[in-house]
Amino acid sequence: MTPFADLHCHSYFSDGTLSPKEIAEKAIEKKLQGVTITDHDTIEGAKILEPIAKELGLEFLYGVEFSSSFEGESIHILGYGFDPNAPSIDGLCRQHIARREKRNRAIIEKLHSFDIHIDYEKMVTLSSGIIGRPHIARQLIEKGIVGTMQEAFQVWLGDGKKAFAQVESPTILETISAIHAASGFAILAHPQLISKRFLLPRILKFSFDGVEAWYGVMGKERALPYVKMAKDRGWIITGGSDFHGEGQRASTYGSSTTDEENFRRLQKSTR
Ligand code: AMP
Ligand code: ZN
Ligand code: FE
Ligand code: FE
Repeated sequence: MTPFADLHCHSYFSDGTLSPKEIAEKAIEKKLQGVTITDHDTIEGAKILEPIAKELGLEFLYGVEFSSSFEGESIHILGYGFDPNAPSIDGLCRQHIARREKRNRAIIEKLHSFDIHIDYEKMVTLSSGIIGRPHIARQLIEKGIVGTMQEAFQVWLGDGKKAFAQVESPTILETISAIHAASGFAILAHPQLISKRFLLPRILKFSFDGVEAWYGVMGKERALPYVKMAKDRGWIITGGSDFHGEGQRASTYGSSTTDEENFRRLQKSTR
């Protein structure tokens, strides 16, 4: 497989550290031909990337990574090739802004009860986009409460940990429907990370258009079952690094990629 594009990465419009332009430059550095940004619950970074990609001679696809919920498990769904002006995408992004606002305030209140004081308004002012747990984790590191991002999640912010709070995301069905209503493709993100494995057969019954079989630094053996499943169903097979910026996570840009055939399938939107 010739790598064509890394279809999973985050800019500083969500919880990444790089700008859209820096991500486009990464794509060129890795000799890739296509580029996207799949920020959590926002398309602001992707909108900025579009003209930059064209200028640099890269093929561009709109992208986004929506959180959804199914039986209490958080399921990530990647959207590609949608109409960025579609009301369904805008509506879903707005729902997520409200959900995150409520959730983040609840986390900060819990931290407060442990005598850890985080200035939420300041975080909002400093942020260029949506605010997630990684932003709160960075504050905990800055304050010297924890040493690493990993520790911040393990002790405070991870699911069920001391300062964990959750506000339900829209359902899988609502999320896929919003992407389809915008003439986009809905891809099940990193299925290997779904912790309640027994839910998988039910999750795979939803009308996804494909699956992200190739993920980050995971080896071939963890991709192949999903490659096979996707082929059996005629689904699109994607791959991406889930890059968040230098030194943020183990995954470097381009560590997993999508080939040209599957990239082209995503370009064939009905819009
Ligand atoms: P949120 O979307 O605000 O709930 O935050 C979830 C995001 O936090 C994930 O998409 C990851 O980017 C990041 N994350 C989750 N667990 C960890 C971890 N253990 N270490 C570092 N980052 C994490
Ligand atoms: Zn992230
Ligand atoms: Fe994800
Ligand atoms: Fe991601």
